[in-house]
Amino acid sequence: MASIENKINELREKLRKHNHDYYVLDNASISDYEFDVKLKELQELERKHPEYYAANSPTQRVGGEITKNFETIVHDHRMYSLDNSYSKEDLQDWETRIKKLVDGDIQYTCELKYDGASISLTYENGKLIKAVTRGDGFQGDNVTANIKTIKSVPLQLKGDYPNKFDIRGEIVLPFEGFDKMNEERVALGEEPYKNPRNTASGSLKLQDSGEVAKRPLECLLYNLTGNNLGVEFQYNSLDKARSWGFKVPRAAKLVDSIDGVFEFVNYWDVERHNLPFETDGIVVKVNNLHQQEELGYTSKAPRWAMAYKFKAEQVSTKLKSISYQVGRTGAITPVANLEPVELAGTVVKRASIHNADQIEKFDIRIDDYVFVEKGGEIIPKIIAVDFSRRTGDSGSTKYIEHCPECHTELIRKEGDAKHFCPNYNGCNPQIVGRIQHYISRKAMDIDSLGGETVLLLVNEGLINNYSDLYVLTKEQVIPLERMAEKSADNLINGIAQSINIPFERVLYALGIRYVGETVAKKLAKHYKNIDAIINASQEDLVNVDEIGVKIAESVKLFFSEEKNIGIIERLKGFGVQLQVSSEKLERLTSILEGDVIVVSGVFYEVSRNELKKLIEDNGGKVTSSISSKTSYIVAGDKMGPSKKEKAEKLGVLLISESKFLQKIT
Ligand code: AMP
Ligand code: ZN
Repeated sequence: MASIENKINELREKLRKHNHDYYVLDNASISDYEFDVKLKELQELERKHPEYYAANSPTQRVGGEITKNFETIVHDHRMYSLDNSYSKEDLQDWETRIKKLVDGDIQYTCELKYDGASISLTYENGKLIKAVTRGDGFQGDNVTANIKTIKSVPLQLKGDYPNKFDIRGEIVLPFEGFDKMNEERVALGEEPYKNPRNTASGSLKLQDSGEVAKRPLECLLYNLTGNNLGVEFQYNSLDKARSWGFKVPRAAKLVDSIDGVFEFVNYWDVERHNLPFETDGIVVKVNNLHQQEELGYTSKAPRWAMAYKFKAEQVSTKLKSISYQVGRTGAITPVANLEPVELAGTVVKRASIHNADQIEKFDIRIDDYVFVEKGGEIIPKIIAVDFSRRTGDSGSTKYIEHCPECHTELIRKEGDAKHFCPNYNGCNPQIVGRIQHYISRKAMDIDSLGGETVLLLVNEGLINNYSDLYVLTKEQVIPLERMAEKSADNLINGIAQSINIPFERVLYALGIRYVGETVAKKLAKHYKNIDAIINASQEDLVNVDEIGVKIAESVKLFFSEEKNIGIIERLKGFGVQLQVSSEKLERLTSILEGDVIVVSGVFYEVSRNELKKLIEDNGGKVTSSISSKTSYIVAGDKMGPSKKEKAEKLGVLLISESKFLQKIT
């Protein structure tokens, strides 16, 4: 048996190294595919040999653990805040103050101030023991299950680490990942997240660690805390931490004077715009830890450190007009057209206003001078009106009541921040947007047809909905602008090929509001064909794992439109995949055929997501709520009391994780 343990350890070691190479050093050493193969192999071995379970195994990063209430934990060492400075004079005053309190020369470590959510990690014998949020500085929330899913947080250290210590850092969401998350949200017709910082800190408190695992968060470390750590200088401690496997940005610099600090400030004030993550200033720290100790703390912050805040990049410019954009879901977004002005290195002509409330709140009027700021957002936003420069008798802005494209009266549902154009079938940007969504890469992936061409086709009256694509002929498209013989052929072929795209992606391509890629997958897997979805009641839909009321309502609404049903019938006629392919229907076994199963609690041998997959792969159905139709519940640890009660009331059987696994193997 020792050989199996060896094999497991060897795989863990390899995966750890690859993780570190990829996420900490940004330097991949094997392909994603090879990584997945190794990870699967390890998962399989761990599943078969639960006796070798380890909380810090790389398999623990996939998440799946649910935290309903985060436990409060008192910090062993308080997490202080930082004093702020805004000018060189502030920094010089600070130096004068501390020079009175310590002897000898002072060196400073300058670091970037990462803008995210602070976190304290505790390690014992090289293993991550817990991760706690800052909270009020004295006590925070235990978010270990969520933090474990962040790939740059080492679960097991390497090198000459101390026995026990805390390390502090910041959880950030780099721009690239943030933008990607927002693209996905917008595609779902949801409001984009406002900025990376709030999204990062919100992520820490998500209940499902599987959701956290999907977010491209990073952990940047900056401070070691504990006793007998064997380091004497802040700057060296950063090197040390790096050598143990932590992600510590290399921007830090050791300087001898406030002049040196200011050189650092001036450099990063510009250069920070090229960083992959948000920063809101720099932090200056007395380098010598003995001097730090002598200096100590005020009631809220260390005397040995000082934050320097970058000036938020703002300019004032004239608001020329407001235009209103109609999205593919009919949502209206007001956009400010500005007198072009330079801001943070780019020329800005437009700024977002979000919605009607925003216009009202700021009392934004045409011809006003407005302050525009560039934060983490993709396009800058208006933060205030410069009332001192308001001239003449501009009246307050009246929000449009009719769609700028089709003139239909707009509606605004209770609880919605946005106005909508309800003219689903007759509003041009909605028609074009839906077809553009249909052909997009993650949907039907018809890359021989571009978004611009769709616009032309609609405007020429050649198509009106995505089912019209399949009757387009070469003769019809050749006369279009920039269309050559060859590209016309490709276009028609590309459309024809799309009938091979699997059902789950077709379902996503239909553009039902709130049905994104993941939801589409869930629905396809559960119902297997479009008719079953069309005929499902709202109650039935809500009962599908991870489908909420909002999604269910939207699905019902979509299929209640006769026109949509007609389009689907046409797609069927053209051979588009509207059911799961027979290949997909093949499963590991059919042992669970006919079983309707609820999964509840925390599991140890397999993750929650794996468990659900196992059920589906063996022919069973996973639903989220217990009803008289439930065959049984796979009950893990800490199953909620209300679920337990309901199961008892309905006489539904509970079976344990291990019993269940026996059943299917
Ligand atoms: P504030 O929230 O403005 O009081 O600033 C203090 C916070 O800055 C700390 O709680 C840390 O989370 C954060 N911070 C970001 N980068 C650093 C850094 N390099 N050193 C110390 N604190 C940092
Ligand atoms: Zn409209």
